[in-house]
This record gives sequence, structure tokens and C-alpha cells, in this order.
Amino acid sequence: MSKKVKRLRGMYDVTPDRVWVWQKLESIVTGLLKQYGYQEIRFPLIEKTALFQTAIGEVTDVVEKEMFTFTDRKEVSISLRPEGTASTVRAVLENGLIFNEPQKLWYAGPMFRYEKPQKGRNRQFSQIGVEVFGYPDADADAELLLMTHRMWQLLGIEHVRLEINSLGSSECRAAYRQILIDYFEQHLDVLDSEAKNRLHSNPLRLLDSKNPEMQSVIQQAPTIQDHLSEASQAHFSKLCHILDTCGVSYHVNPRLVRGLDYYTHNVFEWITEDLGAQGTLCAGGRYDALVEMQGGKPTPATGFAMGLDRLVELIVDKNLWQPDPLTDIYVVWDKQVEVDKVMAITEQLRHDLPTLTIMMHLGSASFKSQFKKADKTGAQFALIFGPEEMSQQLISVKAMQDRNLPQQQLSYPAVVSFLKQQLTG
Ligand code: ATP
Ligand code: MG
Repeated sequence: MSKKVKRLRGMYDVTPDRVWVWQKLESIVTGLLKQYGYQEIRFPLIEKTALFQTAIGEVTDVVEKEMFTFTDRKEVSISLRPEGTASTVRAVLENGLIFNEPQKLWYAGPMFRYEKPQKGRNRQFSQIGVEVFGYPDADADAELLLMTHRMWQLLGIEHVRLEINSLGSSECRAAYRQILIDYFEQHLDVLDSEAKNRLHSNPLRLLDSKNPEMQSVIQQAPTIQDHLSEASQAHFSKLCHILDTCGVSYHVNPRLVRGLDYYTHNVFEWITEDLGAQGTLCAGGRYDALVEMQGGKPTPATGFAMGLDRLVELIVDKNLWQPDPLTDIYVVWDKQVEVDKVMAITEQLRHDLPTLTIMMHLGSASFKSQFKKADKTGAQFALIFGPEEMSQQLISVKAMQDRNLPQQQLSYPAVVSFLKQQLTG
């Protein structure tokens, strides 16, 4: 016997007992995005590696060590997409979508990062992301947060904390960068080697370090909040003001910097304590410099990405949702009746009751085992086709859950109106 090939490390299968959580999650979130007037965009799973090097930045975890990169048959370096923002910007530019008009877009799908797999951290994971182009003001950032806030309510997720910060304009950020370099240079002895490597290329990332030995130096580092220009300060205050008025609570975290290079002004994260270390559910912010960096005209932009794997885990861990029964109706038939006739009637029922799920027993079996199966599916009603029913052109209807309802024999039209009345409110 040949050896079984197993799946790759950090990858997983979603089996039917979990798929319903994914489907419900995706449908609630995409329904909400539609309610706010956002439109979907789709782009490839693979891009030229150069796209991510330019957009995300060379000195980031993602580009330095997390990409799945390979060369194709023509020796072009290609990477599986590790995130969606770079591709969205490429796609809107390539398709002329932001030529003199704003866009509110979303995408969904798998992303790939070669990370150390652990709870809430996989090598293939799913994100739903939102990218908004052409709106410079904080109202656009605020709308993203109001929308995510509403989303937690719709999903039934409690205890998510919103942290926000401002990184200022590109100029503020550049000035602050130098202030940080000067500060950390006075504390070289406490910096680990990664921090030392990044000190000159990406000093903001040092604030993100999880190294316990660096925490006290990080805590005392100068904060960007103290070095924002008046305009940047006003931009941030406007966001806070809208959140206050709309009743969304938040915590200003001056050390929140986000991993990627392209952020400016408002940045944010939604964090839960219920998942352990990997608690960031949704993260994003404004990236006014990116479109130009990718070869477009200067265009203000803001957005977020949220990790669906972590959301599914939270929903399952906390038992937040219950699955729907597999079917509403289970069709049971005696092996003496002609299966083609039963199938034809069942098809007609699916036509007449399009919102109900109707499962027919496949293969001949005893009534006992068919009812056992019907019970397992959680069906509300079993429809029984025996020789007697067929000869009289009737159908027996048996309630599977409500023991007080008597079994009855009804004509086809009566069955349709009975099921309509019972199951479609
Ligand atoms: P982290 O600090 O957890 O590595 P990140 O800054 O790399 O996060 P982003 O690039 O901002 O993450 O991605 C947005 C969201 O996507 C994260 O908040 C998280 O919910 C999810 N995410 C990121 N990487 C993974 C992964 N490897 N597995 C599962 N979900 C992930
Ligand atoms: Mg990461």
C-alpha cells in the first residue's frame, strides 16, 4: 500500500461540521458591507514578488521571512499573496477604478504566510478586507470603525476592545522616526539583535516588540502622540469625536504602530482577550502614501483586514452559534413503491417550496433505519410514501420534533400549504 500524503504544515481542511460557521460568518459580514454600500473586488492569489516588496516594504516580517515565493517557468519571482492591500491597489490602478472617482471596496479569501503555526496563526488563513480610496477625512476612518462595531454586535461577539492611534502624516512620521532612533540609540544595550537590525530601517517596529526585556524601554519611549502636527492632531481628534458621538468606546494606545510600512494617520486594532496571545481580530488604518508608492496619483486611502480563522475559533470556542438542522423535510419511502415517482414528487415539492431544504432518502432501507436517519438530520417533518399512499395519491406527514402533532394523510396541494404554513413564517 502506498503511503498517505498528509496536508502541509500550517494548512487545514474545513470539514462540514465547521463549514456552516464559515458560511454564516461570511454571509453576515458581506451583508453588512453591502448595507454600507461597499463593493467586492477579486484579484489573483499570486502576484509578482516585486509588488509586495514595494508595497509592504522590504523591512517587514511579511516580506523578510513570511512569503511563499517561487520562480515560475520563465524565472519570474512570484509570491502567494500574504495580504490584500497591495493587490487591491494594483488592481484599482490597472483597471482605472480610482481615476477621478472614489471607491469603497472589499475582498475576501485566503492569504499565505510562512509563519510558525500555532493557535490563531496558520500558513493559509482567510481575511475579509476593506479598502477605501479617495476620501481624505476622518469620517471615512470612522465609518470603518462604526461598521466593524456593528459587525461584532451582529456576530454576537462581546469583549472586543478597540485601540486607536495616529501615526501622523508622512512628515510627522519621518520626524518621529528620527526621534525614536535617537532614543533607542541611548539604550542599545537592551535591544535584541532584531531590534538593532531594524533600528535604522524601521524603528517604529521596535515599539511592536514582544521581548519582555525591552518592555520598560519601550514604555518610556517618546510617543508619536506628542509629535503630531496640528493638522494630524485635528484629523485624529475628528475620528475620536465621531466615535464618541456614535457611542463606540476606544482606548488610545500611543504604542500601536501596525506592522506594515505604509500606514499614516489613524491606525486601529480590535482585540479580544478570549483567544490568548493571537487576539487581534481586525486591524487597519489610513495609508495615504501607498497609491503613489505603487505608481498612481496621490490618493488618500484607508482600510482594514480581519482574520476569519480567529473569528471562527472564537465563535466555536465560546459556543456562540448553533447549527441549523441539515434539512427541514426528510422523504421516506417504502421499497415497494416506484422510486422514480417519489423522486418526481420530491422535485415538485422543491419547486413549490423553494426556501425549504428537502432531503430524500437515497437507496432502499427499512422504515426504521430511514426514520433514524431523518431524526439525525434534525428534520421537522418526514413525508412518507408507502404503497397505500401511492395508490390513493396521498402523502403521510409525520412531525419529527413536535410530538403533539398527529400524523396525517394529505393530498399533494394540502401537503404544500401545510408545510408552507408550518415552516415558512
Ligand atoms: P499579527 O501581529 O497577529 O501577526 P499582523 O499584523 O501580521 O498580525 P495583519 O497583516 O494586520 O496581521 O492582518 C490582519 C489580520 O489577519 C490579523 O489581525 C489577524 O486576525 C489575521 N492574521 C494575520 N496573520 C494570520 C495568520 N498567520 N493566521 C491567521 N490569521 C492571521
Ligand atoms: Mg504577522
